[in-house]
Amino acid sequence: MIPVNTPLLSGNELKYVSECIETGWISSEGPFISRFETQFAQYVNRRHGIAVANGSAALDIAVKGLGIGTGDEVIMPSFTIISPAQSVVTAGATPVLVDSDPVTWNMDVSQIEAKITSKTKAILVVHIYGLPVDMDPVLALCEKYNLKLIEDAAEMHGQTYKGKMCGSFGDISIFSFYPNKHITTGEGGMLVCNDENLVEQCKKLRNLAFEPKGRRFIHHELGWNYRMTNLQAALGVAQLEKIEYHIQRKREIGTSYSQKLKKLAGFQLPLEKTDYAENIYWVFGLVADSEEQQEAMVKKLAEAKIGTRPFFWCMHEQPVFKKMGLFENETYPVAEKLARNGFYIPSGLGLSDEDIDKVVSAII
Ligand SMILES: *Cc1c(COP(=O)(O)O)cnc(C)c1O
Repeated sequence: MIPVNTPLLSGNELKYVSECIETGWISSEGPFISRFETQFAQYVNRRHGIAVANGSAALDIAVKGLGIGTGDEVIMPSFTIISPAQSVVTAGATPVLVDSDPVTWNMDVSQIEAKITSKTKAILVVHIYGLPVDMDPVLALCEKYNLKLIEDAAEMHGQTYKGKMCGSFGDISIFSFYPNKHITTGEGGMLVCNDENLVEQCKKLRNLAFEPKGRRFIHHELGWNYRMTNLQAALGVAQLEKIEYHIQRKREIGTSYSQKLKKLAGFQLPLEKTDYAENIYWVFGLVADSEEQQEAMVKKLAEAKIGTRPFFWCMHEQPVFKKMGLFENETYPVAEKLARNGFYIPSGLGLSDEDIDKVVSAII
């Protein structure tokens, strides 16, 4: 079996985690937390990092931390993991969707302006599968309409847009360190930003909204326990030491698949580059010409013991949101096609060159 993801833990992971156990620092108190926060924030060119339990938790904090709530609208892509939409909905605000670009699979930024109303509070960009969103037009709209920018860079560690780090664009930006991301802490996430006040608010929300000053156990608002443990941060520090290699290896895997599959008829492959970025291939996705073609290929690959995953499912077609009366009669044809016809193949950092060849020959 070649699983769709295998992580790579080849550096100081064991050493640093052992240090936590030997010293007894296993909770969210402990020296690796601030080390990981400082080093990661510096890596993506931000002043502050706030380590949290996972990427979805980071989105909850980002939305609430910016003061987004009842009556507010947030513009985002329909084609995304549910996390950003869930954070907006649970904050009491409404996600307003746009379709995707058929070539980059990212939100079609030309559709944003028509969706801006007097209730719009923020644009939430989600960089998809290895290529960033075209940021310049988004930044121009945020400026023109005085909107906040939330950047979901969960799949974009080390990726750049016109030479600037992804994760450095948002008023607040988030990352995930789930095992299929470019660096992992098992479960984990990070918010990054430059604003002192926002950092204090996010740290408070991460820690049950305990007041930083004043008597403990008296609360003026609600937060979550979304703290990261020192054990996770120890993994993170070790992984960060290897990040350049991880990105290079992901690019090698992606480039290798691209070359070996370029004559494959009936399937669209990821775009290798745009004029603003080169793909870092968080995953290597294929989009079949038809849904039947997708189903047949996924079935054949399963028989050949090769793992696959379908693409994200559109937000406007989520039963949970339909039940809430959201997105009634809305349709986003590009996102719908990606969701139905798209799937990705093994591309984890633990994948060997022989594995790549096995996957390629099975596909062909
Ligand atoms: C992985 C991912 C998340 C969620 O991160 P978790 O750590 O799994 O909660 C959010 N957004 C995007 C785009 C992701 O790929």
